[in-house]
Amino acid sequence: MFGVRILIVGGGVLGTMHAWQAVQRGHDVVQLEREPEARGASVRNFGLIWVSGRANGAELSTALRARTLWQQIAERVPALGFRPSGSLTVLRTEAELTVANELVARADAAERNTKLVGAQEVREINPALRGECLGALWCDADASVEPRTAQPALRSALIESGRYTWVPGREVRALTDAGVVDDHGERHAGDVVVLCTGAWLGGLVREVAGEVPVRRVRLQMAQTEPLGEPLTTAVADADSLRYYPAYQGAALDELRRSQPQPEVASRNAMQLLMVQRSDGSLTIGDTHSYDQPFGFDVTVHAA
Ligand SMILES: Cc1cc2nc3c(=O)[nH]c(=O)nc-3n(C[C@H](O)[C@H](O)[C@H](O)COP(=O)(O)OP(=O)(O)OC[C@H]3O[C@@H](n4cnc5c(N)ncnc54)[C@H](O)[C@@H]3O)c2cc1C
Repeated sequence: MFGVRILIVGGGVLGTMHAWQAVQRGHDVVQLEREPEARGASVRNFGLIWVSGRANGAELSTALRARTLWQQIAERVPALGFRPSGSLTVLRTEAELTVANELVARADAAERNTKLVGAQEVREINPALRGECLGALWCDADASVEPRTAQPALRSALIESGRYTWVPGREVRALTDAGVVDDHGERHAGDVVVLCTGAWLGGLVREVAGEVPVRRVRLQMAQTEPLGEPLTTAVADADSLRYYPAYQGAALDELRRSQPQPEVASRNAMQLLMVQRSDGSLTIGDTHSYDQPFGFDVTVHAA
C-alpha cells in the first residue's frame, strides 16, 4: 500500500504519531481536530516514557519500542524535549526493599534496564533527593518529553514534508464510503480513516464501534513553580510498586499486608510520580478514580 490518503481524527499524541508514521511511509495525511489545538490527555500528562513496572512480555516490549521511537523521532524534532534521564523509585522500608529485590532478581531486570542502588548512589544520581531512604530502583530506560509542546512540534516537522495537512476546529461527525463529514458539513476524502479520539467513547466512536472494552480513569496531578535546581531523574515513591504490574508477587502481597497505604492515599489510589519540565517546574501526581460518573467537585479538606 503506497501513496494512500489517510484521514486521522484527533489531534492528540495517538493521532499525531499515526500521522508521523504514515507520512514516513509515503502516505498523504489529513489530521482533523475538533478543538483549535489538542487539549485532551495528551497535553495534561507527565510526559513520561515509562518502562519501569511494565508487565513482562508484550507490555514491556511495547514500552521499550515506544521509548526507542520517541528517541529516534526526537533526533529529528528536538523541540519534543526528549530527556533520557531515567527514574528512581525510592525505597524507604524493608518491605519496599524486598519488593525491589524480587524484581531485580528476575530474568527480565536487564531487559528493563533496572537495578537496585543504595542510598548514597541515590543522592549522587539525583542530588535533589535529600530525605532518608534505604535505596532505590534505578531504571535507566525511563525518559520524558514535553507533553504541552510535543504535538505542535511534531506537526511543524510534518508540515515540512508537504504530505500533511492539519485541520483544527472541525469535529468529525460521520464516516462515509469516501471519507468523513465534519460539523461544518464539509466532506474530507480519504482511503483510510483512523479514529484517535481519546477518552470520548460516545458519539462517532459508539456509532462505529459500539461499546468498546475500555475503562476510563480520572487522574489528578499538580504543576508547580520552577524548583530552582535540577531534578536529574523522574522520581517515584514506593506506592508506585502497588500500581504497576511488574512488581506483583509474594513480596508485594506482604507489603500490602504489613504496610497498608494511609487512608487518604488508599481512597484516592495515590502514588507519587514527579518529573521536571524544561522550564524547571515539576509535574507531580497522581490520583486515580475508576468509579463513574466521576465527581468533578473540588473539595478542600483541612489538614
Ligand atoms: C494525568 C495523566 C497523566 C498521564 N501521564 C502519562 C505519562 O506520563 N506517560 C504516558 O505515556 N501516558 C500518560 N498518560 C496517558 C496519556 O496521556 C494518554 O494515553 C494519551 O494522551 C491519549 O492520547 P490520545 O491521542 O488517545 O487522546 P487525547 O489526547 O485525548 O486526544 C484525542 C483528541 O481527539 C479529539 N477528538 C475527539 N473526538 C473528535 C472528533 N469527533 N473529531 C475531531 N476531533 C476529535 C479531542 O478533542 C482530542 O484532542 C496520562 C494521562 C493522564 C490523564
